[in-house]
Amino acid sequence: MKIAICPGSFDPVTLGHLDIIERAAELFDKVIVLVMTNSTKNSAFTVDERMALLKKCIFDPKIEVDTYSGLLVNYAMEKNAVAIVKGLRAVSDFDYEFQQALINKSLYPRIETVFLTAKGENMFLSSSMVKEVCSLNGDISPYVPQEIVKDINLRCKGEN
Ligand code: ADP
Repeated sequence: MKIAICPGSFDPVTLGHLDIIERAAELFDKVIVLVMTNSTKNSAFTVDERMALLKKCIFDPKIEVDTYSGLLVNYAMEKNAVAIVKGLRAVSDFDYEFQQALINKSLYPRIETVFLTAKGENMFLSSSMVKEVCSLNGDISPYVPQEIVKDINLRCKGEN
């Protein structure tokens, strides 16, 4: 069984993330969406909340949601995963992602990093953009799964 991991902060999950996750599920037997705890980022949702939001919009039994606070390749080794799947939005993502892929390969030679290009309409989409639009009382429904629009509005909508 070929297992792939889609890691990220998913704070919160957007339609851009979901597109990559669903496309990964077409390519592999099982996909683990891994919510990473990144201490350098100020998050709007706790890890448990981010996992709950993901679970609200994932219905494919091939896709699991998990969390990990250690080194990604150690998790990949533990699960016997063959690939890390990442979405690429722009050339600006490339430098950092390329470095990550190389270090991961050097730590765990069996792992491949697979890059899927973002869909045209998701190129500008990020969790930070969603939170910003929401805090300024904009409509976030074109950018996130409809199942979680209310949850995000409740947390991020501005007072004015
Ligand atoms: P962000 O970069 O928005 O903080 P994450 O750290 O949660 O998001 O990203 C997890 C993965 O999802 C990364 O591989 C990232 O490149 C990818 N990703 C994020 N937003 C999009 C998008 N709009 N389209 C395609 N892939 C995306």
